[in-house]
Amino acid sequence: MSDTSSSEFVETDASEPESRRTFDVVVVGAGFAGLYMLHRLRGLGLSALVFEAAGGVGGTWFWNRYPGARCDFESLVYSYSFSEELQQEWEWTERYPSQEEILRYLNHVADRFDLRRDIQLDTRVTSAVFDEATDRWQIRTNRGEQVSARYCVMATGCLSDPYVPDIKGIDTFEGKTYHTGRWPHEEVDFSGQRVAVIGTGSTAVQAIPEIAKQASELVVLQRRPSFSMPARNAPLSPDAQREVKADYTAHRQAARESLFGLELRVNENTPKSALQVSPEERQREYEERWAEGGVGIMAAFADLLVNKEANDTAADFLRGKIREIVHDPAVAELLTPTGYPFASKRLCVDSEYFETFNRDNVTLIDVKASPIEEITPSGLRTRDAAYELDSIVFATGFDAMTGAVTSVDIQGRDGTTLREKWADGPRTYLGLASAGFPNLFLITGPGSPSVLSNMIVSIEQHVDWIADCIAYLDGRDARRIEPTAEAEQAWVAHVAEVGGYTLFPTTDSWYMGSNVPGKARTFMPYIGGVGAYRSKCDDVAAKDYEGFSVTV
Ligand code: FAD
Ligand code: NAP
Repeated sequence: MSDTSSSEFVETDASEPESRRTFDVVVVGAGFAGLYMLHRLRGLGLSALVFEAAGGVGGTWFWNRYPGARCDFESLVYSYSFSEELQQEWEWTERYPSQEEILRYLNHVADRFDLRRDIQLDTRVTSAVFDEATDRWQIRTNRGEQVSARYCVMATGCLSDPYVPDIKGIDTFEGKTYHTGRWPHEEVDFSGQRVAVIGTGSTAVQAIPEIAKQASELVVLQRRPSFSMPARNAPLSPDAQREVKADYTAHRQAARESLFGLELRVNENTPKSALQVSPEERQREYEERWAEGGVGIMAAFADLLVNKEANDTAADFLRGKIREIVHDPAVAELLTPTGYPFASKRLCVDSEYFETFNRDNVTLIDVKASPIEEITPSGLRTRDAAYELDSIVFATGFDAMTGAVTSVDIQGRDGTTLREKWADGPRTYLGLASAGFPNLFLITGPGSPSVLSNMIVSIEQHVDWIADCIAYLDGRDARRIEPTAEAEQAWVAHVAEVGGYTLFPTTDSWYMGSNVPGKARTFMPYIGGVGAYRSKCDDVAAKDYEGFSVTV
């Protein structure tokens, strides 16, 4: 049932948009997810077109070019596993890959698998409407095009819709403003400038040390401080790389079966709880993780994310480190996170973040105590002080997990929009599809491990599942697939129940949607574990897509 008219223009009347091409599948987004999805669809002999709003492939790594941008997961695990040749031949240079290196890798993937000829850049999908008469998605773009496809796959990213707070006077500023997720391609030189950074999340902790090295003055406006671990980035030795590559299949498999899609070293010597060991033993364990760097501390004990008392032990350890690093006790106190559990907001990974506050040209402002009142033509005013500025950097995050999806006007059966359906929080079955929206798939959608995992592991799993599903449907000449309302309801309840066992819902974070004013507060990712989730998805497929209704 493959469309053969992938590159043909069909006849249109004068009122129709200029082009009206038809495809088996339209994919929205050309990051890690969209690129691999296209590759799999090609392998099935299907016609596919990828629309990408950006001027290049790479998604996150195309947009987030801010100084210091780097992955928090090691390059040898934050990479595709679908091609043995690719994973063997690509040489990573550092323990944690820089934005530039990941973007180079993704461009290499696009070339190596000849993907570019089916990717249309600089094109934003604005609407997708399901036509019940033909069982096809009618997809429109900001260029006035309309194409149709049997399936639509949203590979739009969980962290791709930048959030800029609505601060009074924001448009009056006469200097330069930047959002880290929309960083310019030309070099930004802050030398000699007075710069403000708003935000102290994962992005800011990477950008601040780099900006501080250039700016004459840097003002950091902090609402809530973050827990952060040192990255301990270093060149990746050929030997270390060879060692992993010699046993890559086993490493990849271990990641797929793990909790977070990462082979985190579990504590072999101690019981499951941080509370069952002596304070000395706990300290030793945390010190080891601190010396190793990265997010591994989350796996030091099994109950850190579920038991507040256990969590406090890790939180206190990290608070102590801040006091050790930051010279001025008052600044250290301000940088010390309190009032929410460790890792219930994304754990940051940094290179000399806390050390940066020992520099003379860096000032930390507590905007909880003294809120930002206004951006003025020459700077910024908090309740207690005014700052003259040349540039303002918004490191204020994203309308995460749902923003990129709901900013497309997606209309399913009966004209219901996904935006309306998700107004009180996203509702999906397995994070892969949503009832009422036949033949629409989400990659790393809400209700899947997504952002609480190594996302490349989760992306590959979703892409493979979707490709296999389409092959299954075509093998039966099926016209539609859609989750049943019951299966979706049960899954939504399960996601909430499992989330409820953890400390995540106790904290305001973008996982909860609470970083965007007016957004429904609900725990969006699935924390049941990458391995367990994969088994569930495989089981659903093996049982002829249990929980979905398939129409032939
Ligand atoms: P994206 O890379 O976000 O790509 C989605 C693409 O869809 C974008 O290019 C966007 O322009 C396009 N798009 C969206 N809407 C439309 C539309 N309507 N029309 C056309 N195109 C559209 N994950 C980890 O696992 N580990 C990390 O260490 C890590 N570090 C990160 C660091 C930063 C700074 C950020 C922002 C995210 C990080 N992530 C990390 C998450 C990261 O987003 C994923 O790992 C991964 O890159 C997502 O790939 P994707 O293809 O799903 O989405
Ligand atoms: P974020 O985690 O949402 O952080 C946004 C920051 O902006 C927070 O400090 C927030 O304060 C602050 N903020 C938002 N609105 C504000 C306002 N009106 N006034 C003052 N401060 C405001 O966003 P992010 O740092 O861009 O990171 C998003 C996600 O991307 C991360 O969690 C991570 O998953 C991914 N990421 C990963 C890496 C990496 O792996 N290397 C790097 C960057 C990003 P509050 O905390 O008080 O809300």
